[in-house]
Amino acid sequence: MALSENIPALSVVIPVFNEEDNVDLLYQRLHAALSGLGSVEYIFVNDGSQDETLPRVRALRDRDPSVKYLSFSRNFGHQVAVTAGLDVALGRAVVIIDADLQDPPEVIPELYKKFEEGFDVVYAVRSQRRGEGFLKKLTAKIFYRLLRFLTGFSIPVDVGDFRLMSRRSIEVFNKLRERHRYVRGMVSWLGFRQTGVSYIRDPRHSGETKYSVGKMFKLATDGITSFSNVPLQFAGHLGFWISGGSLFYILYIVAMKLFTDKPVIGWASTMTAIIFFGGIQMMTLGVIGEYIGRISDEVKQRPIYIVAETGGIAS
Ligand code: UDP
Ligand code: MG
Repeated sequence: MALSENIPALSVVIPVFNEEDNVDLLYQRLHAALSGLGSVEYIFVNDGSQDETLPRVRALRDRDPSVKYLSFSRNFGHQVAVTAGLDVALGRAVVIIDADLQDPPEVIPELYKKFEEGFDVVYAVRSQRRGEGFLKKLTAKIFYRLLRFLTGFSIPVDVGDFRLMSRRSIEVFNKLRERHRYVRGMVSWLGFRQTGVSYIRDPRHSGETKYSVGKMFKLATDGITSFSNVPLQFAGHLGFWISGGSLFYILYIVAMKLFTDKPVIGWASTMTAIIFFGGIQMMTLGVIGEYIGRISDEVKQRPIYIVAETGGIAS
């Protein structure tokens, strides 16, 4: 057990995936912004970078022992990298921040002030997003609102993973070992005292976004499936209303047959019905498959991530 004077006041968890040109500047800005907050540890989580990110982080550690790192055996994804950082962070409070300087380090003291006022989770709310495409902003807006609608409990809107968490909230968070992780939702789920501080999101300092469309889609489905069974129930509702509707149509067909001489015209209506219901059935099967796939991943009980190398992390 570490002596209490070895416990840093603040840990900063930084997931990095091919961020070679951001690492140094980020460290400098963090260092300058946090100088007033007491002892700080910096935990870089290298998520399978292919570029010079890891050597740069090692070089930082050579200069400053409060820089520590974990390096994964391959790319496990941003949410998993954040999880690994929280697993090893020792601070009385922990901040999660992106490496690309979209989340300004200068906001951290404001988050910390709220922590000192007694809040357990202080998340940073994006009041403005600079330098991001129209489509990204629009899809994000729709998604956050859809999620709020589906989950029933309140996951704050327009909030990423840039946030501060207290020691006791992290202790509980670290017990949630699900494979498909939607960190910001899991943190909301914890409860405790949570509040937001608004900030303006800057453009990325260097490089391209590491969230491909595929990764964004996965994050979105993880968010929905981990916090809501509404899509599953939706299949049931749809079935209920459609079979209710078709009852009237069946009565109509039977009546036409029994009481009139007009033949019921066949091909068009048959085809429409087959195609329509075929589509709906495939879709609902897909939704069910999405949940079953996740159950299967949980049952396997594999570790969430694999660490290949560490620096300064007590095992
Ligand atoms: N990241 C990661 N693994 C990934 C994708 C991203 O660790 O598979 C990191 C990335 O290096 C950055 C943070 O997660 O520090 C946020 O990623 P990015 O800035 O690309 O996302 P965006 O801001 O575009 O949503
Ligand atoms: Mg970014």
